[in-house]
Amino acid sequence: MQKQTVRDFDPQGKRVLVRVDFNVPIEDGKVKDDSRIRAAVPTIKYLLDHGASVILISHLGRPKGKVVESMRLRPVAQRLSALLGRPLPITGDPLGIGTRDAAARLKPGQVLMLENVRFHAEEEGNGGEYAKTLASYGDAFVNDAFGTAHRAHASTVGIAEYLPAYAGLLMEREIEALSSLLESVRHPFAAVIGGAKVSGKLGVLDNLMDRVDTFLIGGGMANTFLVAQGNSVGKSLLERDLVDDARKILENAEKSGAEFLLPTDVVVAKEVTRGAEHKVVPVNKIPNSWSAVDIGPQTIETFKQALEPAKTVFWNGPLGVFEVPTFGDGTRAMARYLAARAESGATVIVGGGDSVAALEELDLTDKMTHISTGGGASLEFLEGRELPGISVLRDREPEPEPAAKAKPAKTTRAEVPAKPAKAAAKQAKADTKPAKAAAK
Ligand code: ADP
Ligand code: MG
Repeated sequence: MQKQTVRDFDPQGKRVLVRVDFNVPIEDGKVKDDSRIRAAVPTIKYLLDHGASVILISHLGRPKGKVVESMRLRPVAQRLSALLGRPLPITGDPLGIGTRDAAARLKPGQVLMLENVRFHAEEEGNGGEYAKTLASYGDAFVNDAFGTAHRAHASTVGIAEYLPAYAGLLMEREIEALSSLLESVRHPFAAVIGGAKVSGKLGVLDNLMDRVDTFLIGGGMANTFLVAQGNSVGKSLLERDLVDDARKILENAEKSGAEFLLPTDVVVAKEVTRGAEHKVVPVNKIPNSWSAVDIGPQTIETFKQALEPAKTVFWNGPLGVFEVPTFGDGTRAMARYLAARAESGATVIVGGGDSVAALEELDLTDKMTHISTGGGASLEFLEGRELPGISVLRDREPEPEPAAKAKPAKTTRAEVPAKPAKAAAKQAKADTKPAKAAAK
């Protein structure tokens, strides 16, 4: 990896500020999903085991610069304290004399958590004074908050002006997993993209266009493509102003030789609610007053066939309104199929809060190669953008030989190494090509 990590400095006797992403769902004062907390434990343990004391910094929710009682980090601290098996005091405020003293009193092996950094507006405003004060509590800064790496805030970016800054172990895993998709991916490479809207995913579709062999599109965003192809989608979620962009993407896919699979049949419902009347129709027969809420059984089969030869799969976004169990068949089928693919050796990377929630419901997260803890951050990374929270981390000295590795976030299409692997893969699969869902 191009960035220095916790392994690149000696934490012995140092106070290390660790930015974590503990923005977790909390219900009735309890953490409902602790995966992001568990994901940060290796970095914290590593630092403690190597003689550091650790000061944790996180946000929770969107308190917009004010103290909001329901957004206090106490439930998070309790959960983490149980995971670490040691006491974990939390300050009443990220600022103030009490906080400064608590930080100063820390001994090697001890952990302290600062209260929600977004209780001060300077966090999101990346206020210099705020960043400077936070930095004054410690000797080094470690960013392990991949989920917040696309935000230039005081505790993710500003603070690195005052302290040597390193990647945490989770951050390292995320960067390595996601940059493998941009740099050294094994072909055939398939991208399954769903979710509510095309907006927010256009950049990813663009940046992956030359890298991906097969796109599989589902969810609400498929509707905009279906309209671009001349279908009508009734009352379905549709971004009419993006139909032209969708058409361009279809054209680009055609030009670049990427397969672009859209649903051929969908589940339509009278209302997007539990218990609503629903049926399966071909995509050119969506009734006027109905909504497409899931991919249909024929599409599920086509998608599975298309994914069978894939050596790498990236999945973002559910293929239907899976929160309503009746409309979750497509998403569940995809989750199960990708788990099976991963078990038989394919690299399967999943990003996005809702997609991951769907996997969790089925208890399939452990089967995947990598589950990104960042939804927006993983998409921005795959758009090829440089994430500010990563840019500020110390670069590794360039390796003396051979020609330096491509830089993950900066790679442009022109810089991508020629793709003999992709060409070969295309050749190889030419005779086993699955039915193409009418991208033409
Ligand atoms: P992720 O969190 O995995 O990145 P998104 O946030 O982009 O995914 O999209 C998830 C949302 O998309 C879910 O709330 C789901 O209900 C919605 N969705 C999926 N398919 C449809 C559809 N056909 N119509 C409307 N909404 C949909
Ligand atoms: Mg989401």
